[in-house]
Amino acid sequence: MKALVYHGPGRHSWQDVPDPQLIDPDDAIVRVDAVTICGTDLHILKGDVPAVTPGRVLGHEAVGTVQQVGAGVRNIAVGDRVLVSCISPCGRCSYCRTGSYGQCRNGGGWILGHLVDGTHAQYVRAPFADNSLYKLPAEVTDEAALMLADILPTSYEVGVLNGRVRPGDTVAVVGAGPIGLAAIMTAQLFSPARIIAIDLATSRLEAAKRLGADVTMLSSDDPVAAVNELTDGLGAHVAIEAVGVPETFELCTRLVRPAGRVANIGVHGKAATLHLEDLWIKDVTITTGLVDAYSTPTLLTMLASGQLDTTALVTHRFGIDEMLEGYDVFAQAAATGALKVALFRT
Ligand SMILES: [Zn+2]
Ligand SMILES: [Zn+2]
Repeated sequence: MKALVYHGPGRHSWQDVPDPQLIDPDDAIVRVDAVTICGTDLHILKGDVPAVTPGRVLGHEAVGTVQQVGAGVRNIAVGDRVLVSCISPCGRCSYCRTGSYGQCRNGGGWILGHLVDGTHAQYVRAPFADNSLYKLPAEVTDEAALMLADILPTSYEVGVLNGRVRPGDTVAVVGAGPIGLAAIMTAQLFSPARIIAIDLATSRLEAAKRLGADVTMLSSDDPVAAVNELTDGLGAHVAIEAVGVPETFELCTRLVRPAGRVANIGVHGKAATLHLEDLWIKDVTITTGLVDAYSTPTLLTMLASGQLDTTALVTHRFGIDEMLEGYDVFAQAAATGALKVALFRT
């Protein structure tokens, strides 16, 4: 089969590799029908994730059709149309037993396209298939479901739920890429008074507005002063960090009001400064997290009922054999205007 293989920093190719085989009784083999590319995949290509070694097939988000299941798989059968989640929980370790699936200590968690071969291929081996695959209802399209492999649960759990968005809140979302946009979408489930989107790029702020942001502002326009002006000088109840650079995290700690919450979603590669000299007296809660994907069943129900609509997130579509082009378009999002890039089996 063909797959996107990482060959070390800056080098990758779409090439022939052996078809995946069942290894453990909990495995399933899935034919990949649709995939999307994540900002994390770009970090890996740059060499920012040293746990990913040369020869690894990348990708941790997909929708596909089950081709084979191991002897231990109970809930998934050959022919099922499934979502392949970015989190593969063992279901048995102490973290999985309490729902912290992303922290699995038994060979699970975020492993696809990281520690084992991933989804940017024609077929993928899905470990812990009973826990990592979700049967899809007929009314949910491949493209819509794809947004639930990673970005929707990540933004909802690590941003909105960790940030405890409540009715009447002012929510500031810093970063209006796919993760920030998914936070804007799912924050609305809790009826905040207003959602403020902050970004460097006007095009992304327009997308934020379409997806439900009430107010948008450029990061260059002194967002702290503007948010204070909107909130009687208090600041945001919840500031959600959806970029992953020191400046945006530090901005969130300045946007938040006393007794407010800062929910960090961004993947950080550099140290940020925590200004405890200002924050110690403010009763501020700061949370971090890797997605656990415990919300995936809930999000799927909302997608099937029409309560969530993910269609506006996908801006570019390719055939799966155009993988390299898809990566290029996504990597140059500032120039191409790409949000999520989806690739489909041809
Ligand atoms: Zn991802
Ligand atoms: Zn586990």
